[in-house]
Amino acid sequence: MPPAKGKSNPLGNTFLLKVAVDPVSGLESQIIKILAGHTVKDYICPHCNQRVLKSTSHIVVVPTGSPDLRRHWHETCFNRVIKQKSV
Ligand SMILES: [Zn+2]
Repeated sequence: MPPAKGKSNPLGNTFLLKVAVDPVSGLESQIIKILAGHTVKDYICPHCNQRVLKSTSHIVVVPTGSPDLRRHWHETCFNRVIKQKSV
């Protein structure tokens, strides 16, 4: 069973927000929030192509069954894209 919405996982630093369609891959994905300082490197946001600094909290989209396709997003970018998709 995945962790309940809004509950922390055993690591205590990531939060499953919801399951939604990844705007990039189109796959059903887990939308996970990672708190600042809990990734080991910076990532490139797939929306704005700017760095997602490891020192900031951000969103990770993990396609169900294809965790290798996960992408790290700025929280603001992800929310913007999700809003556009749902209109
Ligand atoms: Zn971004």
